[in-house]
Amino acid sequence: MTANIPDIFASNVFNEEVMKARLPKNVYKNYKRTIQQREPLDMTTADFIANAIKDWAIEKGATHYTHWFQPMTGSTAEKHDSFISVGANGTAIMEFSGKALVKGEPDASSFPSGGLRRTDSARGYTAWDPTSYCFVKEGSLYIPTVFVSYTGEILDKKTPLLRSMDALSTTAVRFLKLFGNERVTRVTSTVGAEQEYFLIDKAMFDQREDLILTGRTLFGAKPPKGQELDDQYFANLKPRIAAYMAELDEELWKLGIYSKTKHNEVAPAQHEMAPIFTTSNLGTDQNELAMEVMEKVALRHGLVCLLHEKPFEGVNGSGKHNNWSMSTDDGQNLLDPGDTPMENLQFLTILCALIKGVDEYADLMRLSAASAGNDHRLGADEAPPAIISMFLGEELEAVLKAIENDEAYKTQSSTFEIGVNALPSFPKDSTDRNRTSPFAFTGNRFEFRMVGSSDNIACPNALLNTIVAEELSQFIERLEPFKGSNGFENEVKKLLKEVIKEHSRIIFNGDGYSAEWIKEAEKRGLPNYPSTVDCMPHYTDEKNLRIFRKFGIYNRNELTARTEIHLEKYSKTIRIEARTMVEMARKQLLPATLDYISKLCASIANKSQIGFTSRTETSMAEKLNELADKFYDSIQRLEERVNKACLVEGARQQAEFFHDYVLAEMDIMREIADEIELIMPRTEWPIPTYSEMIYNV
Ligand code: ADP
Ligand code: MG
Repeated sequence: MTANIPDIFASNVFNEEVMKARLPKNVYKNYKRTIQQREPLDMTTADFIANAIKDWAIEKGATHYTHWFQPMTGSTAEKHDSFISVGANGTAIMEFSGKALVKGEPDASSFPSGGLRRTDSARGYTAWDPTSYCFVKEGSLYIPTVFVSYTGEILDKKTPLLRSMDALSTTAVRFLKLFGNERVTRVTSTVGAEQEYFLIDKAMFDQREDLILTGRTLFGAKPPKGQELDDQYFANLKPRIAAYMAELDEELWKLGIYSKTKHNEVAPAQHEMAPIFTTSNLGTDQNELAMEVMEKVALRHGLVCLLHEKPFEGVNGSGKHNNWSMSTDDGQNLLDPGDTPMENLQFLTILCALIKGVDEYADLMRLSAASAGNDHRLGADEAPPAIISMFLGEELEAVLKAIENDEAYKTQSSTFEIGVNALPSFPKDSTDRNRTSPFAFTGNRFEFRMVGSSDNIACPNALLNTIVAEELSQFIERLEPFKGSNGFENEVKKLLKEVIKEHSRIIFNGDGYSAEWIKEAEKRGLPNYPSTVDCMPHYTDEKNLRIFRKFGIYNRNELTARTEIHLEKYSKTIRIEARTMVEMARKQLLPATLDYISKLCASIANKSQIGFTSRTETSMAEKLNELADKFYDSIQRLEERVNKACLVEGARQQAEFFHDYVLAEMDIMREIADEIELIMPRTEWPIPTYSEMIYNV
């Protein structure tokens, strides 16, 4: 199977090229204008587009269409209607109206609304987001939509992202004018999400109830070999993995996703796919799609793709490195230092806006990546810590130091005056990369590494956009009076100096995985929120609510609702995990242990009849018997605690209870079970071991 990429690329996507070819000229023009000016589509245009989309989709084998949206459940949602209609004399005709394209009315009552429903406003509708492309998949036309309540309250993940993109654009365009960039009319945030994942054999997966129900292993002793040899990262691809990746690429390309890079990751059985970056809203859709395709293609290869942040204890977890930047409609990347002094000054100012923003809103950054799954990853086994800090690289840090101290910036060969000379371009060299930083500058973008592998990236990007919009708007206020005057440059330098002085505590270039950093960060006064329950309540802090309101991202109700949804999801996740543990322990692991103890006892009894000693069996039986008692007690305790947790009132209090009491007991139980596993013969242990799962493909 060799794919001709240009031939198949986006062959299932109704993108601009197809629209141009299939729509009457004036309709296409109307559509383009609508997008550029962010206006609603008029019905005549919508009818034309709907008809063209329908014909195109039917040619691609579609019989149905669905509004595709991203509710707060964390997965995408779809409900399929066929194009079928009753024609003359009872014939069937295929119909699709502009109205059906633009608006849908799914029953919203079963999606999490975080209490918005109580105000009787959660009856919802979906609305086409014409900035994202429609596509055909598995016999249906997919229409990317946003999902809002009838009273306008947002019920999904895409709406805040789109709002934040608009806020950022408006602000950044004004900001750029200060630097003489008069031509720019739109600034778009961009994202390239590197997606990490595990692949294991389906036959193994099917034997593990924990993987089936929770996506991660709740039991499992460490294998003799972990990732200590570093022999998996970038290792050659095994044939089965290579075949999987080839088919995955092809499927992604058909959907217009520029799958670019694929390689083995650090942990055994761990891999990565990185697409070429695109606009944040398209990037979000494409990442959701990519995850779905990854799972489906795996099944065709007898594999299961695990997207959980921490499927296996003791080896690396999976993240989704969220590469973020901003592009102008005239093609500049705003995080590219540029070739002229003015461009550099602009770049440094944006950089300082980010430094200030990340420092002031570290709590938002942290909680944008918070989930029960990611809690196991952050701060553990080679993942970024739960503390937000920024990495800029030696060179940029030296530039900032020079600004702070009113000095010229010296390189080996020359001296640079900020705002007079052009800065030397910064090496985009991987040797200068700090892979332990949660938020790292990588030459022309920031890489936010905290995001979990299974998470929807709309939220982190929406928050990042809002934070940057806020800082830029503060800078505008300060600098606008100096626009075009001689004093402008000086005022910028003064501003930068102040920001660097006040906020450089957020910059950290050392080893983010070290224990010293935790102490150092505390000294610097940086927040450290190890878990979801620690950070999530800060969503609604007044300072955060203020910026969301200022830019029209969330109102208080929406924010409170969102916080509640996240905390409830946290509690539910732990509850399911705990109950799965109890079930596996009771139905599989404890019975197996007791069985084996009786086998040992039988052997001891048999041997004693012929006068043999049974030192080994006796010692093993004693040890196992002792562990079985502990195991049993832990099962009882865990069950009791889960039941209690379910009765706790209040989303936050309940999540805290799950964290402090239930999760803690789960850890205890796992430790006991893993100790038992290490003593038991393989033939007696009822579930696949870590070695079997991660070295089997
Ligand atoms: P690395 O593993 O070294 O971080 P990768 O090539 O795996 O690099 O991933 C880099 C990601 O960053 C890719 O998805 C790439 O498209 C993305 N990227 C590059 N430039 C930008 C940008 N301006 N905005 C957003 N993402 C970008
Ligand atoms: Mg990478």
